[in-house]
Amino acid sequence: MRQFDDAVSITVEYRSEKSLEELGKLVPPECHCVREGRLEHLLARELVPGDTVCLSVGERVPADLRLFEAMDLSVDESSLTGETTPCTKTSAPQPAATNGDITSRSNIAFMGTLVRCGKAKGIVIGTGENSEFGEVFKMMQAEEHGFAGKTALPLFLRDNRLVMHTISLKMQTLISVLSYPVFVLCVGTNIFPISGVIMMVGWLQGKYILDMFTIGVSLAVAAIPEGLPIVVTVTLALGVMRMVKKRAIVKKLPIVETLSCCNVICSDKTGTLTKNEMTVTHLFTSDGQHAEVTGVGYNNSGEVLMDGEVVHGFSNTSISKIVEAGCVCNDAVIRSNTLMGRPTEGALIALAMKMGLEGLQQEFVRLEEIPFSSEQKWMAVRVVHRTQQDKPAVFFVKGAYEQIIRFCTSYNSKGGTLPLTHQQRELFQQQKSYMGTAGLRVLAFASGSEMGALTFLGLVGIIDPPRAGVKEAVATLISSGVAVKMITGDSQETAVSIASRLGLYTKGSQSLSGDEVDQMDFQHLSQIVLRIVVFYRASPRHKLKIVKSLQNVGAVVAMTGDGVNDAVALKAADIGVAMGQTGTDVCKEAADMILVDDDFQTIL
Ligand code: ATP
Repeated sequence: MRQFDDAVSITVEYRSEKSLEELGKLVPPECHCVREGRLEHLLARELVPGDTVCLSVGERVPADLRLFEAMDLSVDESSLTGETTPCTKTSAPQPAATNGDITSRSNIAFMGTLVRCGKAKGIVIGTGENSEFGEVFKMMQAEEHGFAGKTALPLFLRDNRLVMHTISLKMQTLISVLSYPVFVLCVGTNIFPISGVIMMVGWLQGKYILDMFTIGVSLAVAAIPEGLPIVVTVTLALGVMRMVKKRAIVKKLPIVETLSCCNVICSDKTGTLTKNEMTVTHLFTSDGQHAEVTGVGYNNSGEVLMDGEVVHGFSNTSISKIVEAGCVCNDAVIRSNTLMGRPTEGALIALAMKMGLEGLQQEFVRLEEIPFSSEQKWMAVRVVHRTQQDKPAVFFVKGAYEQIIRFCTSYNSKGGTLPLTHQQRELFQQQKSYMGTAGLRVLAFASGSEMGALTFLGLVGIIDPPRAGVKEAVATLISSGVAVKMITGDSQETAVSIASRLGLYTKGSQSLSGDEVDQMDFQHLSQIVLRIVVFYRASPRHKLKIVKSLQNVGAVVAMTGDGVNDAVALKAADIGVAMGQTGTDVCKEAADMILVDDDFQTIL
């Protein structure tokens, strides 16, 4: 039995190792690199010293980098130094470290560490085994003969012992429940005498007595549920392998077991339930003009139409002002119809391409940036025109309507500005609701020389179609007793409209905003949480409270996430599910399961 147990352990270790290797192959570390002045999307292993790498929040540093540009950069170096508090990095030159203390090198981002906040650019100074991480690995190899071979093993072994232990805990109860009836069954059905008879028959047939003894003992032992943990472990290991084939990577074996008990799935909207392929379809200017946009994808095929007339370039001042703000306050790049950056921003660049205004992005020099975050829900840049740098700097701001309108005191009307009245706000709010109710993701735009006194420019509506097959997956889950909840940063109208299309939100369903979650105490939220289908304008921090309140009422919760700040909720959930494509490395690290294609159906 012991040998069999060991054999199973080794098999499981091998399987786990293989799954992790598989994980590396399916979701290889990638990075953004500038080569010959062009931003490229590369695999981390393709980097060479001298390359320029762009880092942004949530990414794993792909090589050792000497930073020459850093904006609010804070890096988690715990994998290297054990220090869990993220440390601030700068681009300022530092005196050479003489004591070998790497934590003092604040202008170097080390390979394998995680960007917790901010943005930066750096030159590759070490890759792979020639990096600081590689040095540590080489030291470990040199430490003891065969040590490296064993390091991987105890890591997995530890995990597997844990797995065996976790399973044992649950199995223990089952075993104690089963033991007595099985014993009675054994005596009642005469399993012991039967194994004795089988042994005798074999011996009389001329079989070797020791072989027959082993068979007899195995037969008797097999009837006792002590073998159950092994059976369960093998079954779970097979489950893990089957799930890898279905593009879901399970990092811990018992998760397969938890997955089968899961009765609530909390899912993001963008990219999981929807395709995350954004296209601007509608424009509303602050002076009341509407325009439709044709074409799909990240390219210039399509037109902006107003009353059937094509709008191009600067032919309509109010529209071109919105396009300018969307284009300048933007980090995305479209090259050869391929998007590098966020899909929401890609949709705005595609809009500018359709208007022939994409060149505007290069016409300004960025002095300052307040980056987008899911908590904040807006982004701003302060820029000056490249050819008129003596002129005052201008802010271009874009984001959720409620956030942008707070900064505005006037609105654009045919190129001039008018004071923002209560009626105007009502009108903008109404237009925003119309677009949202049609399932569009709404972005608002403003510009001006002072953040507290901006001029409102208008709104765009972006379509992000539901993923194929999600509606059917949701229906199957609901009919099998699994509740599906949407947690999104988007507005109520957009969230409810998409949820209704997917069959999630039906008559009598309820929705709750992130602010309401904040205001409610934990007990109150626990009382109503099961009835809520859509959580809108929610931030990552709300996810944690929602998970806890669901668990408080006995739910087994699977929670999806992609951003850095989702990591805490993913850890708290019974099953944390990260997105393989759009998920940040931080979030993949925290998750129990990774959906390679970001596809909600895979959970089913
Ligand atoms: P989910 O949480 O389901 O992924 P989401 O993608 O809608 O939903 P966020 O990305 O947090 O959630 O976006 C919330 C809101 O912030 C959006 O409705 C939009 O108004 C605004 N927004 C989204 N992306 C940007 C961006 N790049 N710049 C400025 N504002 C943005």
